[in-house]
Amino acid sequence: QKSSPAQTEFYQAVEEVLDSLAPVLDEDSRFCKHSIIERMVEPERQIMFRVAWVDDNGDVQVNKGYRVEFNSALGPYKGGIRFHPSVNASIIKFLGFEQVLKNALTGLPLGGGKGGANFDPKGKSDGEIMRFCQAFMSELYRHIGPTTDVPAGDIGVGAREIGYMFGQYKKLTNRFDGVLTGKDLLWGGSLVRKEATGYGCVYFAEHMLEGNNDSLEGKECLVSGSGNVAIYTIEKLLELGAKPVTCSDSSGTIYQKSGIDVKSLKQVKEVEQGRLSDYAKRHPDAEYISRDSYPDDGHAVWRVAGQLAFPCATQNELTSADAKALLDNGCIAVCEGANMPCTADAADVLLKAKIAYAPGKAANAGGVATSQLEMAQNASMQRWTFQEVDHKLKDIMQGIYQRTRDTAAELEQPTNFILGANVAGFRRVADAMIQQGVV
Ligand code: NDP
Repeated sequence: QKSSPAQTEFYQAVEEVLDSLAPVLDEDSRFCKHSIIERMVEPERQIMFRVAWVDDNGDVQVNKGYRVEFNSALGPYKGGIRFHPSVNASIIKFLGFEQVLKNALTGLPLGGGKGGANFDPKGKSDGEIMRFCQAFMSELYRHIGPTTDVPAGDIGVGAREIGYMFGQYKKLTNRFDGVLTGKDLLWGGSLVRKEATGYGCVYFAEHMLEGNNDSLEGKECLVSGSGNVAIYTIEKLLELGAKPVTCSDSSGTIYQKSGIDVKSLKQVKEVEQGRLSDYAKRHPDAEYISRDSYPDDGHAVWRVAGQLAFPCATQNELTSADAKALLDNGCIAVCEGANMPCTADAADVLLKAKIAYAPGKAANAGGVATSQLEMAQNASMQRWTFQEVDHKLKDIMQGIYQRTRDTAAELEQPTNFILGANVAGFRRVADAMIQQGVV
């Protein structure tokens, strides 16, 4: 029952999952008897808190902080922290709900959670970022721990922010715990964690194409976003012989027919913390489409011709008009690097077209899976090589692909990977909840 009209994104995510689960619920009466759905849509715990900090002018600023500890049936709560002005309770709840099923789908011992704040890191000085992170952790530290809740990064939270939060956690608790993932390599981070979501997304796409007797070789790819997930999606696509021709940020889109120059993109975004307009200035052959000239019903990036699409920016960034444009232009696969980037209508269009379509909870699970590998290294005080972690990531992505594909086939809708991912994740969480009793 929808009790709050303001939880749009959360209801969107839940509705998609419930649509998928109908046949499974009819099949197995235990799920109804144990009120699994009613329990799964209600977070185990939601923490909302004030984050007060002092800006460079000496003025006090106040933001809203959140941590939703959604479900711990399979392991400690695990999921990222997002700093973006659009963050609200609905967005954190939708992300937490998706995270529960995603983490289950990896086959790893991970529960699901998510957190964040409506803080805008853009234009803030390094000192302001540090003071904000410290203020955020001053409340969060009492709720997290290496076996209770282990946050990571997400939009607006990268290695720098994780560092400032970890420093404050350590100061407050006097403990050097593996309580956050995405840490710097110097002090407990894992190789491949930075690359994992993007690389994993491309590994998943590779499997989907192979399943259709096709490959990435020579495919023109449309990528949105230019943050962590987008950059490493582009890097892996290039490495495997595909040609990413777009990327975007919230101000505009780059279209570069000759292929995105990932080295230069990293320099602009990771080293200089710049904008794609700066990238365009260095690449006269790249077209820069400013946000003002986007189509009214969608996003410029999806109007470019390409065979594969990788939405890697944010939720609801690909509309039904965008989905139709992709199909008209010959797109054969959509692989979601971001969480819920397709609107519900867009997902319907792609499903009806029966093209290869991977939902985020399957395709972008490489990030959280590698976070678990970071936790395992921290707990055993070991350090694995790049090749070892990458190898494990590849195995995990293959497992996620097979579980998703096999479940979709078992339910007699072999092209419906949304169904396959939702049901495969749900079954693991539901069985664990039943075994653990009514708590
Ligand atoms: P980053 O902050 O590194 O990058 C986000 C990118 O998306 C930026 O290019 C940003 O542009 C753009 N963007 C963000 N919000 C908007 C918006 N409202 N409108 C238009 N563009 C926007 O985040 P990540 O790359 O880490 O995350 C991207 C997506 O992937 C998110 O959906 C996240 O939840 C998901 N994800 C991330 C994982 C990870 O390991 N990092 C793991 C699994 C999923 P600008 O700079 O202009 O804001």
